[in-house]
Amino acid sequence: MMQYDYDLFVIGAGSGGVRAARLAAKSGARVAIAEDDRIGGTCVIRGCVPKKLLVYGSEFSQHFRDAAAFGWTLDAPRFDWATLRDNVQNEVSRLSGLYRTNLEAAGAAIIEDRAEVVDAHTVRMKKSGKTCSAERILIATGGHTTIPRDLKGHELGISSTHAFHLEKLPKSIVIAGGGYIAIEFATIFSGLGVDTTIVYRSEQILRGFDTEIRAHVQSELQRTGVKIVTGAVFTEIDKLADGRKLAFLTNNMRLEVDQVMFAIGRDPNTRGLGLENAGVKLNERGAVIVDEYSRSNVSSIWAVGDVTDRINLTPVAIREAQAFAWTEFMNKPTAFDHADVASAVFGRPPVGAVGLTEDDARAKLGRIKVFRSQFRPMRNILAGNEQRTLMKLIVDAASDRVVGVHIAGPEAPELVQVAAIAVKAKLTKAQWDATCAVHPTAAEELVLMGEPVAHDNEAPA
Ligand code: NDP
Repeated sequence: MMQYDYDLFVIGAGSGGVRAARLAAKSGARVAIAEDDRIGGTCVIRGCVPKKLLVYGSEFSQHFRDAAAFGWTLDAPRFDWATLRDNVQNEVSRLSGLYRTNLEAAGAAIIEDRAEVVDAHTVRMKKSGKTCSAERILIATGGHTTIPRDLKGHELGISSTHAFHLEKLPKSIVIAGGGYIAIEFATIFSGLGVDTTIVYRSEQILRGFDTEIRAHVQSELQRTGVKIVTGAVFTEIDKLADGRKLAFLTNNMRLEVDQVMFAIGRDPNTRGLGLENAGVKLNERGAVIVDEYSRSNVSSIWAVGDVTDRINLTPVAIREAQAFAWTEFMNKPTAFDHADVASAVFGRPPVGAVGLTEDDARAKLGRIKVFRSQFRPMRNILAGNEQRTLMKLIVDAASDRVVGVHIAGPEAPELVQVAAIAVKAKLTKAQWDATCAVHPTAAEELVLMGEPVAHDNEAPA
């Protein structure tokens, strides 16, 4: 039998790669993991974690405004970007260090280099030039921000990666895109007092989410001061003499801003990985094509996480990696079930969603019931804050099963995590209703929605 240097070689130490490496190493496998950046990947280094900390930071402006009605008098609050930025980066470094410690404790060898695939069982390190062989190779290289390279002046724009490190907080920013990243960064920047504009090519932001939730978030963002230009894209970006940028749009608008940011999607990191050397098949977006066990068409090569462009979320990458490790190293064949994965947008208001949207449920199931509750949380009423919460339950009329939960409002991401258990468990509306409320909470609305607002194929009331 051929002896390989390693049982598993993982390329990329993000959420997926680290989880697979740790589990495999703990099971006794000889594991190496290569990373040419800091350990932690997009989520820890330049995504979920620093983003959420910035969101927290941006929420204080509203808290300060609300505070007066609760009796608090504050001197005019001042914000220092450098303090927040540096504290966030310190936390990122701490977490990256923990990831490293955990990998080492599990017994995985960390190779600080960029690895390329040479053939189905061989990888080469770019800096050191060393090669090593492995029985299995796992591609967990994630993705990167799409930059519209054919746009004149694109090099003047930044991505979310750069946004975490800005030397100065801009006075104004225009963000291209209407997805997760655009909404979250618009929330952050505007909350921190930056004059923020979103330029979105279609009419309603957050494609893929429930239509009413999209409309609600769009109008709430606008109400809190974010400008949203729809039906337009950039045609050119120029640099002005004072260093500011001038963005030209297809609708003939011109926006003069301090910063331009692109949030128009992310592409899988497969370029320059040498996958073609092993004959690994990619899809038209450059993502590794895998089966339900995350195995590519080459039997010794697997891929997990954003590089496969399935559901591009950290917890999904972790579950795919775990399923891979269980299957290959722990004698427990597992395919991660991608159904009913909840997700959240940390916007203003935040969104939490799981399962089918109203439109999708109507198309897929035909007969549905829609329950809706819209209200001002009691905290906001006292504060004089106009922000309202919207909650929707989508129910399959035939089985009474709750097939979708959509929430836009404070703590929506926390609420939907719990609601996702009930959706995944296929609980019925009757079972939701049999659950006694917790009072006074916003979440109690989820078990108190008595009458549907729409049945079957009716349009919502
Ligand atoms: P999204 O896919 O969410 O959104 C991309 C946006 O850019 C859409 O509004 C899209 O418009 C628009 N767009 C796409 N191409 C162009 C173009 N050529 N010109 C102008 N606009 C364009 O991507 P993001 O970059 O926001 O995020 C990437 C992924 O990262 C997400 O899909 C998500 O999976 C993950 N993520 C998750 C987060 C979370 O869980 N909270 C946070 C951040 C990222 P249209 O709608 O018309 O297609």
